Amino acid sequence: MAVPLCVECSMCCNGSIFSRVPVSAEEQARLPKGRFFTKADGALRMRLGCNFLGEDGSCAVYDKRPKTCATYACRLLRRVNEGKIDDGSARNIVSSFKSYVAKAKEACARAAGEDRAKALEGKDADAAYAQLRVWRDEGVKIDPIKQDEARFHLHVLHEFIRLHFKSSYRKSG
Ligand code: SF4
Ligand code: SF4
Repeated sequence: MAVPLCVECSMCCNGSIFSRVPVSAEEQARLPKGRFFTKADGALRMRLGCNFLGEDGSCAVYDKRPKTCATYACRLLRRVNEGKIDDGSARNIVSSFKSYVAKAKEACARAAGEDRAKALEGKDADAAYAQLRVWRDEGVKIDPIKQDEARFHLHVLHEFIRLHFKSSYRKSG
């Protein structure tokens, strides 16, 4: 039997769409040690990619997960639940999403060059591109055409997210 769509996807948990999730003090207390932090205004957040996300795409704290996780449904999942798109088409969209993420990260690594590409491993596409900009501002020589290519792929990725997953996409949201 096919794994559930969200287990196959897991993009809203792995940092590809959001960088953090709101949690309450009670939710933090019932969860194992996570990557929690408190904002300047006192609001509690859990950093994503989530360290409770298993390699198979499942949530290791499913019964204890924060309410935001339990209630969130992206645009694609809502369309599936409303019968507006079939399961196979939804899985194709998830597969395309993964490929756009990979292309954006690969383009950042090409722009970084062989020596620095290693430092981008484990970063999501937005963070990898942000690092390129930091390096450039520090005076590191980054090929401008390759940097433009990375920005192009990141832009395509953001548009794809807006189209299928989160219409008001903003990574820090
Ligand atoms: S809610 Fe949407 S983005 Fe999150 S795992 Fe499910 S299909 Fe993927
Ligand atoms: S707690 Fe579970 S559902 Fe919530 S972000 Fe982490 S892996 Fe995803």
